[in-house]
Amino acid sequence: MTLAPPPNSFRNGPDARGRFGIFGGRFVAETLMPLILDLEAAYEAAKADPAFQAEMDSHLTHYVGRPSPLYEAERLTEHLRAKAAPGHGARVFFKREELNHTGSHKVNNVLGQIMLARRMGKPRIIAETGAGQHGVATATLCARFGLKCVVYMGAVDVARQAPNVFRMKMLGAEVVPVESGTKTLKDAMNEALRDWVTNVADTFYCIGTVAGPHPYPAMVRDFQSIIGRETKQQMQEMEGRLPDSLIACIGGGSNAMGLFHPFLDDSSVEIYGVEAAGHGIASGLHAASLSGGKPGVLHGNRTYLLQDGDGQIADAHSISAGLDYPGIGPEHAWLHEAKRVTYLSATDSETLEAFKLCSLLEGIIPALEPAHALSKVLDLAPRKPANHLMVLNLSGRGDKDIPQVAEILGTRL
Ligand SMILES: *Cc1c(COP(=O)(O)O)cnc(C)c1O
Repeated sequence: MTLAPPPNSFRNGPDARGRFGIFGGRFVAETLMPLILDLEAAYEAAKADPAFQAEMDSHLTHYVGRPSPLYEAERLTEHLRAKAAPGHGARVFFKREELNHTGSHKVNNVLGQIMLARRMGKPRIIAETGAGQHGVATATLCARFGLKCVVYMGAVDVARQAPNVFRMKMLGAEVVPVESGTKTLKDAMNEALRDWVTNVADTFYCIGTVAGPHPYPAMVRDFQSIIGRETKQQMQEMEGRLPDSLIACIGGGSNAMGLFHPFLDDSSVEIYGVEAAGHGIASGLHAASLSGGKPGVLHGNRTYLLQDGDGQIADAHSISAGLDYPGIGPEHAWLHEAKRVTYLSATDSETLEAFKLCSLLEGIIPALEPAHALSKVLDLAPRKPANHLMVLNLSGRGDKDIPQVAEILGTRL
């Protein structure tokens, strides 16, 4: 039996208007409002329906491959202990989301939203994508369930993410290059929102992270929370207790919210989110919305955003295309101000070092996104006592990043 969280819980949000404190909400055109209310009602009904949960669970087991393992990274732990003071050096564990079908955590959320679209009788799915990982996950599940799939992708991203564009096409999706703005992820999301209002009757908008107007941030978090629920149970089975710390990378913040949410009221658990610092916060070339941005409104919610002096949305930069979103989910903005989660940032070069170390010591080539979080594990773990249990969310595998890393390292493939 699950007990309801206490009234002062960190897990109670959002309120009925979709607010996490002053963040979140639904700042959308009047024309979009009926669709969003419809979606909210459908999601509330699905959440309360045991048949929906049972169907989700079955697909998570047989199609996605859950549960993902909780794995103790022993050689990494030893390596970090060699540099630590006596009695220090945390035991590091990886939550292996990279082993999911399609290679990342994205599929957990997409499966949930596609199941909801089917329940609502919507045969046409639209999605935005940046690096293409969310687009691939959406195209995959649309193929699996025989749904029409249209993916909006900035023209710049289409050009630099050719393998993922080809994957989406193989899976039967239509990829629409977006030529407006900076021709990247935020423009793709604007275009998808425009499509949605135009094709009200048959279309479901599948958002890829804990952003957008309410109910998306809460709904995506709920679908990703399987990561944290499994981690809690697995650590209980392995060590008979809670972990001492959690750490995850942040693009929009969905893999992080998924790991963190079930632990928010466990006050003994330290929680760290890691943003992309690109060339460094001071350089202005980064994607760290909390460390280097300020509150504003984008894509239907109030949150921390990268902005220039006039309040225009600034371009995000990161070595990792999956992290270069100029905003962050509103629940993170709130957890930051409430000081429940500590937000750090990792530069491109720190990330590359962690990427190499993980590959050599653990035989796991991580995606560049979680390599950001891993680079902070290299700082944090040696300062913790030897009985400290630290869990890193290994959100995706590095296959997609091989050409880019090879180029940076000066290797011709
Ligand atoms: C997309 C992606 C991310 C960033 O998205 P979040 O919503 O912040 O989780 C992180 N890791 C991987 C592997 C991704 O594909």
